[in-house]
Amino acid sequence: MQYAINVIEDLNVSGMLANHKLAKSIADMGFYEFRRQMEYKSELYGSQLIIVDRFYPSSKTCSNCGAIKDSLPLSERVFYCEHCHLKIDRDLNAAINLEKIGRATAKFTPVDKSEPTPLVEAVVKPTQA
Ligand SMILES: [Zn+2]
Repeated sequence: MQYAINVIEDLNVSGMLANHKLAKSIADMGFYEFRRQMEYKSELYGSQLIIVDRFYPSSKTCSNCGAIKDSLPLSERVFYCEHCHLKIDRDLNAAINLEKIGRATAKFTPVDKSEPTPLVEAVVKPTQA
């Protein structure tokens, strides 16, 4: 059996569409369609889809030490942590944070948790001599 864990953020699409600067790129991205496809494919392949709360600060949280920035303008493409001095691509930092959440959230079903296959008892009829 093959399975995977995919993590996506539940982006506040309507909120972003209200921001005219972001509206076009969000609409182009088609987040709703992307999410719908992810849900469909996850069910099809039996993989887990974890949708992270839209209020989780994936971009503002340091993927190394966990410190959270007060603000991070979209123009800042490099994440720099004042606490541990980590310098990393902004999107990569967010992706690492989401991966961590995915690992912590994913539920694995142990093999021994599944229902045992009922044994069909062999009926041996004594042979009459
Ligand atoms: Zn840090």
